[in-house]
Amino acid sequence: MKTMQYLKDVVTLQLNRDKCTGCMMCITVCPHEVFQFKDKKAFIQNRDQCMECGACAKNCPEGAISVRSGVGCAAGILNGLLKGTEASCDCSGTGSDCC
Ligand code: SF4
Ligand code: SF4
Repeated sequence: MKTMQYLKDVVTLQLNRDKCTGCMMCITVCPHEVFQFKDKKAFIQNRDQCMECGACAKNCPEGAISVRSGVGCAAGILNGLLKGTEASCDCSGTGSDCC
């Protein structure tokens, strides 16, 4: 199966392995298999496949992951899919600096 690739080297995903306790939650929740497990800790295997959905950061009990979620084209595409409309991040007219 062809995997979705985000723009190269623009992903905001960060992992602090010093905080990681190896619970594997990020590996479980990530829809793009961005994380792998090595030496009892997670590491970022496929950074450019991250779509910045934020699931890993929200579910990491140690606060070891950070990512700017809910912005950019990934959020727009997901909003469109969920609402059955054109892709949109819903930022128009809100004064936000989204796009
Ligand atoms: S969810 Fe957090 S603590 Fe658990 S394996 Fe992933 S980075 Fe480590
Ligand atoms: S933000 Fe989403 S796609 Fe990116 S690593 Fe976390 S769970 Fe995976």
